[in-house]
Amino acid sequence: MSNPSMPAVFIGHGSPVVAISDNDASRSWARLAATLPRPKTILAISAHWETRVTAVTAMARPKTIHDFGRSLPAPLFDVQYPAPGDPALARRVAELLAPTPVALDEGQWGLDHGTWSVLVHAYPKADVPVVQLGLDVNLTPQQRFDIGARLAPLRDEGVLILGTGNMVHNLPRMNWGNAACDPYDWAARFNDEMRRAIVDNEPERAVGFQRLGQDAQLSAPTPEHFWPMLYVLGARRPTDRAVVFNDWIEHGSLGMTSFLFEDAAEAKQAA
Ligand code: ZN
Repeated sequence: MSNPSMPAVFIGHGSPVVAISDNDASRSWARLAATLPRPKTILAISAHWETRVTAVTAMARPKTIHDFGRSLPAPLFDVQYPAPGDPALARRVAELLAPTPVALDEGQWGLDHGTWSVLVHAYPKADVPVVQLGLDVNLTPQQRFDIGARLAPLRDEGVLILGTGNMVHNLPRMNWGNAACDPYDWAARFNDEMRRAIVDNEPERAVGFQRLGQDAQLSAPTPEHFWPMLYVLGARRPTDRAVVFNDWIEHGSLGMTSFLFEDAAEAKQAA
């Protein structure tokens, strides 16, 4: 039997503190990994690596980056996620994206918390190699979707494509004192629209998110947390089924909604 096709996943990662928490989100990430075929390598597309050119980490030993403010709990700064890199996959990504230039990063970046805050729960042994793909800030949403489509063949090569961001991400408006408060109306509407893009397979709703006007401006006031989902939408295949999970918004404006695309026939076999 040939290798199973890997799913493509988007995770709403929320606060870095989830990395050292035991809560619904962290448990769902552990459960998810337990149900997926074991990846050969993870290609992580994190909201926290913004670049001037499409870049991939190409070092054998990526370092753990603690890219958040000193006000966060001290134990977060002690987290290490020593997963190996996969320089061969970095070169393969460059090959798939040609003629778009891809910078092979040999040491500047590593694994940022958008990646490791999820993976410490999903793959706690850090024994699956991880490569990160940088978000070129100059790209249009359509170009991000297209890059995802060009990376889709990796799913047949044992690679788990993992977008990690938040569909709704407005930190200034967050109700810090109450995680369980009702979401803002604009956040709920934007989240609903993105769910429809996924469930109804209408990715143009997400690619054209700016058309949603104020709902989009408030839900993605800086779009870097929104961008990773566009790559994952691009990696979808006609034979995939979509599964939405963790479909909630914390603190009024921090959306945890996540989704995966998996081959419908293989999912049925596994069930
Ligand atoms: Zn983040």
